[in-house]
Amino acid sequence: MQSAFDVIVVGAGYVGSSVAYHLCLAGVKTALFDRGAFAAAASRANYGNIQIQDMELEKSVEMIRLATRKFEKLEQELDWKVGLRRIGGLLPIENENQWRLMEERLKVVRSAGFQSELLPAERLKEVEPLIDTSGLLGGLYHDKEGQVDPFQFVWGHLRRARQHGLKEFYGVEVTGFLEKSGRVEGIRTTKGDFNAKTVVLCTGARTRLLGKTLGRDWDVQYVLGQAMVSEPIEPALRCHTASASFFEHTGENTAKGAVIANLAISQSPHGHLLLGEAMYEADHFRQDVPYASLPAVSKSVLRFFPSFRKLRILRGWSAPVAHTSDSCPLLGPVAGLDGLILATAFRSTVIISPLVGETVMQLITRGNCDLNIEGFLPERNNKNAH
Ligand SMILES: Cc1cc2nc3c(=O)[nH]c(=O)nc-3n(C[C@H](O)[C@H](O)[C@H](O)COP(=O)(O)OP(=O)(O)OC[C@H]3O[C@@H](n4cnc5c(N)ncnc54)[C@H](O)[C@@H]3O)c2cc1C
Repeated sequence: MQSAFDVIVVGAGYVGSSVAYHLCLAGVKTALFDRGAFAAAASRANYGNIQIQDMELEKSVEMIRLATRKFEKLEQELDWKVGLRRIGGLLPIENENQWRLMEERLKVVRSAGFQSELLPAERLKEVEPLIDTSGLLGGLYHDKEGQVDPFQFVWGHLRRARQHGLKEFYGVEVTGFLEKSGRVEGIRTTKGDFNAKTVVLCTGARTRLLGKTLGRDWDVQYVLGQAMVSEPIEPALRCHTASASFFEHTGENTAKGAVIANLAISQSPHGHLLLGEAMYEADHFRQDVPYASLPAVSKSVLRFFPSFRKLRILRGWSAPVAHTSDSCPLLGPVAGLDGLILATAFRSTVIISPLVGETVMQLITRGNCDLNIEGFLPERNNKNAH
């Protein structure tokens, strides 16, 4: 048996790094494990957008509202620049169904105090000058979304957590749990067993595999989300633009083996264009992408931004992104298994990570939390509920 901790956090992505940071600052003796390095899975593969509009709205808008406030003080709190910058968010609308969906979203977003607007097609160029508006009905626009640098965000949390005693174990895979009389007392890993009073799983797409070692079947599915990056160009885009079709074709209704591409495009502060996003319902965790996906991404980018026809692409990639059947995360204690907490399968992970870190810390140090997590409890869709 190896060293004992108060808490073991598994998964060093956006969520796990924030959980570890909040625990360490609260004086909790914490260890962080990852089968790879930090930001090894989906958190290495994304745009870092702080998306106010991209969410499973009615159930999560309160979470997003609280999370947005936390971002305001984040860099000051971490004493680290995470590349935070404010950019607009635009969801161009191509048909009546999307317009109806965006009207519904607008109501919910406004009720939470966000100043989003539904713009007619003729006003889209005011917010995104290069967009081709032909065939568009308009767009849902939010002027205060934002972007972070994904690596600086994760690193900023880990760096501060280290200063407060975090112990890190990279390249160590968790293979199971130490369990006694309905209580999780630690983890089994490829480097031996480790004890802790509480284990927190921030394991993204692989969470279901770990649940199976406990006889649980948590509803965590995943798609391979694929994107590519261009050579740097002069500043060309003002917003993060994602087609409203995202809300018609989510991962949940993607047929096995099919590739679905919805526009998602941003420009990084270094001038690179991030171009996506194809989704592929895979039955493996490999990172090779199906042949059809990158041409499908190019086609959707050129439909909205034909002036990028000559763009030179540097590379493409994919990563497994977790989701659940009801599009809500698994957040909270696991019923019938003391000492185990899940924090995974968030849709707009960047924006909610600081709040989730704080929420898990409160659950562990106080036994309750400020955020209402009733609709997110892990066992709600467990097919082998205990
Ligand atoms: C192209 C693309 C663009 C995206 N853009 C955005 C965006 O702009 N904004 C946004 O909010 N989201 C975006 N996303 C989604 C976002 O990347 C994910 O939601 C987010 O990274 C999930 O973070 P996480 O910490 O929950 O999981 P992950 O980053 O997947 O971390 C899970 C960690 O757990 C570790 N792990 C798993 N199992 C084990 C085990 N058994 N033992 C040890 N370690 C284990 C993994 O190695 C991994 O490091 C995008 C995704 C893609 C693919």
